[in-house]
Formats: sequence, structure tokens, C-alpha cells
Amino acid sequence: MSVATRSIPNRIARFAAYECTADLSHLSTHERAAIPKLVKAAKLFDQIYLRQAWSGNEALQEKLKEKGDRDLCLLFDMYKGPWASEDENVPFIEGVPKRPEGGNFYPEDMKKEEFEEWVKTLSSPEEQRHAKGLYTTIRRNNDGILGYVPYNQEYKDLLEPAAKLMHEAADDLAQLAPLEEKGTNIQTFLRSRADALSSNDYLPSELDWLSLSKSNKLEITAGPYEVYTDAIFGYKSAYEFYVHVRDEASSRLLEAFSDLQFVEDHLPIPDKYKNDKLIPAPIVVVNQLFSGGDVAVPMTAAYNLPNDEEAVKKGGSKLVLIKNVQEGKFKHVMAPIAEQVLAKDQLQYLSADAFTTHILLHEVCHSNGPHHTLGGDTVRSKLQEHHSALEEAKADIAALFAAHLMVEKGKIENVTSRQFWATFLAAAFRSIRFGIQEAHGLGQACQLNYLLEKGGATCDPATNLFSVDFDKIEQAVADLTHDIMVLQGDGDKKAVDDFVEKYSKLGHETKKALDRIEEAGIPVDIRPIYPIAEEQ
Ligand code: ZN
Repeated sequence: MSVATRSIPNRIARFAAYECTADLSHLSTHERAAIPKLVKAAKLFDQIYLRQAWSGNEALQEKLKEKGDRDLCLLFDMYKGPWASEDENVPFIEGVPKRPEGGNFYPEDMKKEEFEEWVKTLSSPEEQRHAKGLYTTIRRNNDGILGYVPYNQEYKDLLEPAAKLMHEAADDLAQLAPLEEKGTNIQTFLRSRADALSSNDYLPSELDWLSLSKSNKLEITAGPYEVYTDAIFGYKSAYEFYVHVRDEASSRLLEAFSDLQFVEDHLPIPDKYKNDKLIPAPIVVVNQLFSGGDVAVPMTAAYNLPNDEEAVKKGGSKLVLIKNVQEGKFKHVMAPIAEQVLAKDQLQYLSADAFTTHILLHEVCHSNGPHHTLGGDTVRSKLQEHHSALEEAKADIAALFAAHLMVEKGKIENVTSRQFWATFLAAAFRSIRFGIQEAHGLGQACQLNYLLEKGGATCDPATNLFSVDFDKIEQAVADLTHDIMVLQGDGDKKAVDDFVEKYSKLGHETKKALDRIEEAGIPVDIRPIYPIAEEQ
């Protein structure tokens, strides 16, 4: 089906409806009282984001509501506008212009060169910094001259009520008993973040977010963050708001993984490639109750923030993994794909816990292995355009290696090695399905082909179904972990080019399986239903 002819029902069907909920039984009455206020604030961020993405969005949304076309309203809400982002931004509503490159951050008639020339005319470096800053829009004055407007003025009508709601939620949370563990409590963060909405100074609250204590049961991410909506310069940040609760079981699992050195010491590579002191990156695992603002389909399953370099320099960054969103993707996308590609006797090993635990280990394992070559350069600078694919493949395969190691040592009890391996094999097809032009897909193609070559995975020519060979997989995974890490540690670009050239080509059997996945009409992703927002 060509892009232009997709029908409205077909567009909706590409995203399976998934109920985003979480166990709230361990929350106190104060936390429960705070949540609806936070959801209300997040809904205001929805409105801000519509305004940021396109000047016509708010009026169009009103019009769609008046007409009462439920399908179009649903699609508009899913995409936060009239363009299908994963489908080359094609508009799905009649009479809508092309998606404006710079969103509504700049005058729509402004050219890149005009902005650059104008910035040069600004007298102080401070002013130039604001013009290019994350937290200002660019507008014309009555004479047509460009100027910048701070977000706290531009979106005052929506930011003020949002800040008020965040303070009210903080009032509820202030009734909680003091935290058991060190760090910032959630109400302190909410207050400083609310103040930032009014002052346009986001740095102090970014630092509060980074230092949030593990004992907080709620994990809130709210503010202007990602810059993708500004496709001209990537300068301007869009508002997003996540209402999350921490996943307690995963937090305990993370504790078990925090000893990264254990995995590093057991890596199947010579000692000269190993790190002797690894510091784990901060990771939080959460479940989503609501999201608002710059959040659309396909659903975000993880984010690493902040983006503000000054905040990163002062406080580092933090990775948030959204477990129930990953589970939704597993249920509606991964499991149906597995049914198409895995041999019947291996479907019993398919496991949602294996899927989410492997994602967690993938993030942890980015720290393992060489980040500098033996020659002292960064791996990134040596591997260049293949660095991302190899780094993603490294994290994937090292995570599978680590998973088996931890099962053997009794550090993972709820998932077996067979479940990890079989689920990994099916997951490879999910990534490759989106194409090998992107780092994750390319990295997965290399891994799948390598495992097939080594006999760790096989394909039955009669049925075109794939299996893990449980006698050979352990060695194949160790070999691939070894080969990728040595490629990284040596930093030999030619060897890496040869490796990618050899292993990235999809075989006939893989292509046939991918065709079957397409023909089966399996959703490309999920769209969220938030029961907590409907209760209000
Ligand atoms: Zn990764």
C-alpha cells in the first residue's frame, strides 16, 4: 500500500490500542491525591506542544471536535497534529500544508540565512545565546525585524496554570514521611520545576531531577526537552510531561546489575580490552500513567535526559526505561512477530520478562567493553559512520551474554537462558523490520546473520521458521561479543567495514520472513489509552 493511499481506519489500525496502567496499591493517599493534578498539568502541556508544533494546530483541533469526526480526532491526538510522522510526515487531513520545518518556533517565512545574519547583529554573546537557546521563540516585530521571546512570556497563559497545579501536587506530597534514602524528594523537584516554568531558568530544577531519590514512588519528567520539532536548527525545545510510578521489582533487579564489574570481568575478551573500573550509569525503571506534550506515536519506551549541555556537565544524565510501554510493544508487536518467525516448539520460550530484562541489560551493557581503542582514541572517532550500529550491536549481544551469566550465577531467577535466547531471536526481526538504514536495525541484522553463520540460530528451509540451537548458542553469543568488542578496541576501520559488509546483507530466508510479517498486518506500534485520565 502506498503512503498516500492509506485510509484513515488503516492508519489507526497500524497502532494497537494499549492500556497504560500500573499497580498503585503501594502508594499513599497523598501520592494518589497528587496524581490527578499532575495529569491536569500534563494536559496543559499537550496544548503548549500543539502550539509549538504548528501555528494552525489549535484551530484545527477545535474544528475537528466541532465536526465530531471521532477517527480524525483520534489520529490527530495520536500524532499531536495532522501529519503521520513515521510515514514521511504525510498529512492525513485535507487542506493541511506541509509540516513546517521549524515548527512554530520561528516565523514561517523565515529562512535559515536570515536567522543567521540576524544573530550576527546581536550585540552581546548573552543575547546570541538566547536567540539560539532552548527556551525562546523567534518572532518578528511590527517592522518585520526578528527578535526572541522567552518561553515564560510566549506560553504564559498555559505555563502559569500548569505551575499552579504542580505546586498543588507538591503540597499533597509534602505530607509524606521523610525519605529513607538520600537524594531530592519529589515535591522539592516539582516546586523548583514549577518555578522554572515561571522564571524560564531551568538549570536548578534539571539538577533536582537528576538527584531525585530512589525512595520516591513517583517519577515525574516535565519541561521543555527534545529539539526534534525544530527541524531547521534543533535549537528549540518542546514541552513534554510524563507521569510515572517507579517499578519496584525492576529497581531491585537493577541493584543486582549495578555490579557491572562482575560482567566486565567475565567478558570473553583479552584483559587488555577490559575496563578495570566501571561506574554504572543512573537508570530508573517506571510505569507510565500519563504522558502529555511532545509525545506521540510511535511510543517512547526509554529516554535519556536532560539535553541541556550545561545541566549535563553539572549533574550528568539519567536514563528512564518505561516498562509497561515495553510490555505493550511486546504483547501487540513482538509476540505476533514471533508467531510468524519462530519454530512452533520454540514459542513456549517467548517471554515478556525476557524482553524487558534484556532491554534493561542492553542499557546497562553500553558501559561494558572498550570505549577507547588500544591506541587511545575514542571508538566513535575511529569507527565513524559504523560506530552507532556496532555500539548498539555490542549492547545487545553483551546483554544476552550477561543475561546467561546472571542466570547461571542465580542473579536472575524469573527468566531462563532459553527464554532470553528465543525471545532475542524473535526480537531481531522486530528491529530489522524497520530497515537497516538505522543503527538498531543494522546492528540487529549483523547479529542475526552472525548467529545463523555460527549455527547458534537455524532456519528450517521447509517451513522458513527460525530456531535457537541450544547446544551452540552460548558459544555463538560469546564469539560475537568477543568479535565486536575486539573490533571496537582495535579501532581498525577497514576491519569494521568488512564486518558490516559481510554481516549486514539480509539472506533470502530472512527476507521471506519479513515479507510474512508485513502480510500478516502486524501493528507497527502501540497507542496509549490512559484509564487514569479518563477517570477525571
Ligand atoms: Zn542502545
